[in-house]
Amino acid sequence: VEKIDIKEEKKKDEPNKESAADEASPAEVSLLTKIIRKGLVSNKNDLEIQRQNPNSPLHSVKTFEALNLNPNLLKGIYDMGFNAPSKIQETALPTLLAVPSQNLIAQSQSGTGKTAAFVLAMLSKVDSTKKYPQVLCLSPTYELAIQTGEVAAHMAKFCPEIEMKYAVRGEEVPRGSKLTEHIIIGTPGKVMDWALKFRVFDLKKIIVFVLDEADVMIAQQGHQDQCIRIHKELGPACQMMFFSATYENDVMEFAQAIVKNPIIIRLKREEESLDNIQQYYVMCPTQDHKYKALTNIYGTVGVGQAIIFCHTRKTANWLAEKMSRDGHAVAVLTGDLTVEQRINVLDRFRGGQEKVLITTNVLSRGIDIEQVTIVVNFDLPVDQNGRADCDTYLHRIGRTGRFGKHGIAINLIDSSTKHICKSIEEHFNRKINFLNAEDCDEIE
Ligand code: ADP
Repeated sequence: VEKIDIKEEKKKDEPNKESAADEASPAEVSLLTKIIRKGLVSNKNDLEIQRQNPNSPLHSVKTFEALNLNPNLLKGIYDMGFNAPSKIQETALPTLLAVPSQNLIAQSQSGTGKTAAFVLAMLSKVDSTKKYPQVLCLSPTYELAIQTGEVAAHMAKFCPEIEMKYAVRGEEVPRGSKLTEHIIIGTPGKVMDWALKFRVFDLKKIIVFVLDEADVMIAQQGHQDQCIRIHKELGPACQMMFFSATYENDVMEFAQAIVKNPIIIRLKREEESLDNIQQYYVMCPTQDHKYKALTNIYGTVGVGQAIIFCHTRKTANWLAEKMSRDGHAVAVLTGDLTVEQRINVLDRFRGGQEKVLITTNVLSRGIDIEQVTIVVNFDLPVDQNGRADCDTYLHRIGRTGRFGKHGIAINLIDSSTKHICKSIEEHFNRKINFLNAEDCDEIE
């Protein structure tokens, strides 16, 4: 009854945006990662700490009580379900809350508690009796600013006296007016307009300046310059808080340029590994065969959830439609979805409403969903030159030590992509076993 028309598929496959690899910008990746991770990422690495004067004491705390917070803030923290500081918070929080104030540069992967740390510091430092902006937080995009604002709103649930304002697209202020909110969370362009052009608040009165997602910030043309211009107008006593999820040199250079005399804390990412992952390849001469192999495999290993990676949106959408028609509950996540749609898709998948998530490279990091047992590479990850993209492969199928659970990765390949599979196998020096998709009992 059902037959795929591969020729039809080919004909439409013109070099347009749809058939190009579906890559996401750093800001999109960051947002998706935030959304899909609902809890803390555990990390067994040691915290590296650098400071100018190694003799000055450096505190760390094991409880939120030890921070002597405003009781209503503490209530907010517990209301968020936090029991104890995360690894990075143990050191970051006493540093951020220290008197006299101390500048901080913190680097750790997404999900380790940076946002919660600086939001807590922002809320603690506000003097709510003073009706003007005292804390300024810069985020790279509208969506990321809103995410941070929502964390702040929740944490400040029992501190209604603290007021916040978003400086993002869509928000306007009458010219000649003065802002009375204590905290401004915004994107660099809008903040520059408000502070330097319209002068609705005074950068000299800012006592805490937060640069969130600095790595994403400098990946965006112009943002770095805008941050530097804003930073130049701040007073000399303003406390700087600088956060990044990555460790590239350009991020560190940017950090050192604007954060004077900082304490630097770094928590290296726990690398994904292929231990505990059974890897297979299946020979599929056509897309039709790939589809058959997929349904056979899924029928056999149908426990838990699966994520299927495709190279283009077009393949992802084609596959989703086909699987749905065959009665599978599938979700699709591609770069053409709006932010709300993406959030919705991820929420449903995390909640188990769909067993299969079909996606492209918009989602390669951060899929730490415990119940995902199978990852299928419908298309192998390749770089722009068509060579094996081993990093992406590892991010797609690898796990960090935290789950210690077994996973299965299945690569659907044909004679033209066999060499890619081979180079992935050689790169990681881990066997990728042949699997006969007609007889999936071989899967352990
Ligand atoms: P990052 O900014 O490093 O990406 P977040 O601050 O967003 O990390 O924290 C990641 C997730 O962990 C969020 O869902 C957050 O609510 C939660 N979280 C943060 N700190 C704690 C904590 N101390 N205890 C429990 N959960 C926490």
